[in-house]
Amino acid sequence: EEKILEVKQLKKYFDLGKNQVLKAVNDVTFHVNKGETFGLVGESGCGKSTIGRTIIGLYNRTEGEVLFKGQNVHELDEKKMFQLRQKMQMIFQDPYASLNPRSTVREVIAEPMEVHKLYKTKQEQTERVYQLLEEVGLNRDHANRYPHEFSGGQRQRIGIARALALNPDFIIADEPISALDVSVQAQVVNLLKELQEEKGLTFLFIAHDLSMVKQISDRIGVMYLGNMVELTASEHLYENPLHPYTQALLSAIPIPDPDIEESRERIILQGELPSPINPPSGCVFRTRCPLAMDICGKEKPEWQEVEENHYVACHLYHEKEKKGQIREPIVN
Ligand code: SF4
Ligand code: MG
Repeated sequence: EEKILEVKQLKKYFDLGKNQVLKAVNDVTFHVNKGETFGLVGESGCGKSTIGRTIIGLYNRTEGEVLFKGQNVHELDEKKMFQLRQKMQMIFQDPYASLNPRSTVREVIAEPMEVHKLYKTKQEQTERVYQLLEEVGLNRDHANRYPHEFSGGQRQRIGIARALALNPDFIIADEPISALDVSVQAQVVNLLKELQEEKGLTFLFIAHDLSMVKQISDRIGVMYLGNMVELTASEHLYENPLHPYTQALLSAIPIPDPDIEESRERIILQGELPSPINPPSGCVFRTRCPLAMDICGKEKPEWQEVEENHYVACHLYHEKEKKGQIREPIVN
């Protein structure tokens, strides 16, 4: 399979002054295959959006590499970066905030085409705007209206049309449906799936809700406090979650069958999410992990492929632990 994106040991720290450093992304490694949807999931503040913004070059990286089609995003000159931005686009959580309220829908969608000088005449450009509106389920009559005249779902469609304006290959969708009503969420997800099929798009789909990510993703990476803790194929993650954090997240998703739902054990995480400014030593999840062991406070668990295409960072699965050194879990 062709990798369109490779993220290697990525770190993004923010210096807050007074010797305080926010470790928003701490040593994250994954790749995205061409044509797939990779879901990035975790609680708010876990670093998902920072990864998205670092990949697209809105932030410089602290350490590590981001390769897009083999090119190191953070080492490109301005001209190359400009070209690359055409192929990599972002859809944001709140479409209203990302659309200029004083621009018409036509202007909003045409702006990236103008910046990249895609068309020679205004007429060609406007035709393209009409075409894009139709592709996202709106129509040309909407072109001269203003974003605030539309519903949340329609505004997200406008945001999608704008992201498609430059014919990108890769789209980072940062919580694109979190601000929408549940009834509208499925429509936007279906639209993204249709567009993906038609255009062969690749998505990095960022969300805090695992149930939503499951529907759209081929593979899923689970984040906790700036770290990726587990990564595998979507179906497999639901069938065989290995990391205690993933297990807790999955146990919180209601199951429609009441018989199963009643007998199911819900894992309630104790304690607060620690601050990424002063994360726990060793395993970042240890202060809330029901299975934490001695070693978890001493050593950071390595990112390991524990079975084919299934990565996890947890001492429970380490080779030396498996060989009889596994310790009794400390119940918090
Ligand atoms: Fe829990 Fe230890 Fe695994 Fe961390 S390394 S998830 S604390 S068992
Ligand atoms: Mg976010």
